[in-house]
Formats: sequence, C-alpha cells, structure tokens
Amino acid sequence: MITLTFFHLLLSLFVSTPKPEAAKPAERPNILVILCDDLGYADVGFNGSTDIITPELDRLAHNGTIMTSAYVAHPFCGPSRAALLTGRYPHVIGTPYNLLDDGKVTDHGVPVRETYVSNVLQKAGYYTGIVGKWHLGFAERFHPNQRGFDDFYGFLGGGHEYFPEQYLAQYDRQVREGRSPIRWYIRPLEHNGREVREKEYLTDALSEQAAQMVRNAASQKKPFFLYLAYNAPHVPLQAKEEDMKKFAHIQDKDRRTYAAMVYAVDRGVGEIVEALKATNQYDNTLIVFLSDNGGNFDHGASNYPLKGTKGDTWEGGYRTPMFFHWPAGVPAGKRFDHPVTALDFYPTFIHLAGASVPEGKVLDGKNIMESIVRGENPRKDEMIYAMRYRTGHTDVGARMDDWKITRVANEPWQLFNIRKDISEHHDLSRQFPEVLQKMVAATEKWSRTHVTPLWYYSPKDAKLWQAGLMPAYKETFNLDE
Ligand code: CA
Repeated sequence: MITLTFFHLLLSLFVSTPKPEAAKPAERPNILVILCDDLGYADVGFNGSTDIITPELDRLAHNGTIMTSAYVAHPFCGPSRAALLTGRYPHVIGTPYNLLDDGKVTDHGVPVRETYVSNVLQKAGYYTGIVGKWHLGFAERFHPNQRGFDDFYGFLGGGHEYFPEQYLAQYDRQVREGRSPIRWYIRPLEHNGREVREKEYLTDALSEQAAQMVRNAASQKKPFFLYLAYNAPHVPLQAKEEDMKKFAHIQDKDRRTYAAMVYAVDRGVGEIVEALKATNQYDNTLIVFLSDNGGNFDHGASNYPLKGTKGDTWEGGYRTPMFFHWPAGVPAGKRFDHPVTALDFYPTFIHLAGASVPEGKVLDGKNIMESIVRGENPRKDEMIYAMRYRTGHTDVGARMDDWKITRVANEPWQLFNIRKDISEHHDLSRQFPEVLQKMVAATEKWSRTHVTPLWYYSPKDAKLWQAGLMPAYKETFNLDE
C-alpha cells in the first residue's frame, strides 16, 4: 500500500530517536482541524503579532510547518466553510452567500450531493467529530450528523454569544414572551440534536468538548477526524476578565477584548494538546490550524502587512494564518511560502486516510502532503481564485505562483508580485500586461463553471440576480475599461 511506504519514508526522515511510547507512525494519522473565525493574519505570535500572545499555537507552529501563503476559498464564513468540507469553490456549487441568522429554519444549505470530507473519512473507518460552528444549513438533512459526523457539539448558526448566563437568560425570556423565531446567536448549544444548557464561556466549552472527543477517540480502535470550529474571535467581542488582564498593555478596548478572545483559544489548544499527549495520540495527529477568512479591522483584528479586511479580495480578506503540525509526518521548524488553499484539505486528508475520491466527485484542490514534506510548490503555473459578489459588481482576487491579480470595487484590474509586494501597493499591470491578460483570461474561464446561487443573503441581492445585473461577469472581465 502506497500510504504505508510513504509513512515509513516520513518516519525515517523526521523521527530521529524512536520513542517506545509513541504511536505507530505507520498507522493512519488522526486529523484535527482547528478553525478560528475572522482571525487576522497578524494576530498570532507565529505570524508576527507583537501585542497578542499565543504560546500554545506558536509551539505547535514552530514544531511544524508554517504556511505563509495560505488561502481560504472565500473571504467570509459560510462559503469558506462549505469549500473546506466539500473541496469545491462555493461559486461552482451555488453557495457563495451566507445563510441568515434570524433563527428561521430555511430549506437552504450546502447540497447533500456534495459529499463532505467527513463522509469520506467516516466511511474509511474514522471516528468523526465536529465541535463549534456549523453555518452550512439548518434543516435536518443538512445537520452535521447527516453529513458524516458521528459527534456534534456546538451550534448551527453563523455565530454565537459567549457567556451562557447572558445568552441563555435572553433566550429563556424570549421563549417566555412567545417570540419566534429566536435568532441563532442566543439559542442553547446542542449535542447531536439534543439541547445543552452549557455553563462555560463558549470558547472554553468548545475546547473542553474537543479535548473530551480526543479522549473518547483514544478508546476506539480507529483514527479520528475532528473539526474544531471556534467562534472566536468573531463578534460579539466578549472576553473573560482573567484573559483581559493579560492584555492591559493594549489601549484600544476592542483590540484588548479581541486579543483576550484569541488568547482563550490558545489556552484551549493547550488543553487539547495535553489530551492528545495523555492519550498517546500526539505524535500521530496531524493538526491543521487556520482562520475561515481574514480579520475584520472594524472589530479589533489586524491583517498587517496585508491590505484589506474580511470580505475583501485583497489579501487581507482571504489569506490567513496556517500551520500543519504532525511529529510523525510534517517537517518541524519550516516555513512554506508556496501558495496553498483550504481546498487542498479534502484531497490531502483522504490521501492520508488511504481513501479514494468518491465516484463522480470533483475536487478543486490537490493533495499537498508530499509538496509540504519536500518544500516544493504544489501548483506551479496554476491559479487559486477568490471571488466576492458585491452589490451590482463582483470583486476578484487570483494568485499564480508569485503573481496576484486583484479587481475591487469596479476599479481597473491590478497586478502584483505578491511575494515581493505582500501589501499590494505596486501595480505592475502596465509593465507586465501579458501576465495580467493571461491570469484574467484564466479567471474568466473559471467563472464559466459557476452556477446560479441556491440562495441569497438579502432580498436586494436576489433582485439584482433576477434582473440580470449580477454576477456582472461581462464587466468584471473586461480589460479595456
Ligand atoms: Ca468568518
């Protein structure tokens, strides 16, 4: 079996002294994805933060490989998560908009014909869990337990309040008042469809549940896949006093609260690492850390030195912190500067699981494991796209090797050498018109694979599409303006 040979190769490369207590690296690895929500590029120590401390994440990052050019498939929540689990760009499966959080159970969600990576791993014999935010559909057929997850602890909406004494009181009051629907942000959490009256601060609750799932997984005779989708540091900005005290040096209240929320995630990651070590699963667990989109600089985040904010197709909108950590399989102390995308997770994970792509399933990313180990570009001359539907126009970003093209707010296309000019300051489109043309043409070709959205965020969006004013691709890809 190829997988086993590959692991033996990895073992010989990276494990210098065999530890008798270590998990057998030839076994299929556990896979733990830790996803933050709206975490800025600059807001973790390992990516250069000077005011936010993240010792646990930094330790993992520095003992693993840090991806400096890591992208998600969309610059905001729902579509980015849909891409992570389906391995497909949201525009090609009809899910480029967020689901509304008003509490209604609509018939919208990521189509069930799009087999999730969790389905494949579950079928391949993995114990599969999700802790945290879902945001991929409220109706029963879209529920995590119907989409390849054995265990779900969390909430279905696009965000949540953090302090149960506050949100549960609010929720109970609205129930007493007979209000309906009640927005998702204040509803009780759930465990496999059963309502839970959680007592802990949200981030702590999710960390504890993840640690518990790690412990539960250890007693099973199968590897685990755990998707830990923290709500932090997404708004509302709500942090524990004890965490706030760590950041008294930060003057701005929003930034201070945000920092404390990131720190709570870091504390939690420390607990999960402890659980992995205590159950002898640490060495053979691949930990992947990232954010679902860029930080929102209106709410305390920093994407420095990237331009733009959450929602943008500037780098700051969809280039996020990322690392891979796996003592038995990923180089330690390395930086990986080649572009990678969260679309690569699906093919990479199922490769590690020794599973194959389901029949008829199309994937937009690629298995990047070998490239990471060798430090090679996994997609020379290939494009990574980002697209955001605005009101009456479409923003685009696309990366190929060192080049990036950006079109924002109907302004002319710009071209950057993103390796030398990470902040997108120096437009090179006049110096290299052929590069710009080639990349815009590739993006236009990709856009022809897009389908009409299955739902819209607002009635205004729906009207624009129905009137034929969106996606405005003819204007978007017109280079002669
Ligand atoms: Ca988000």
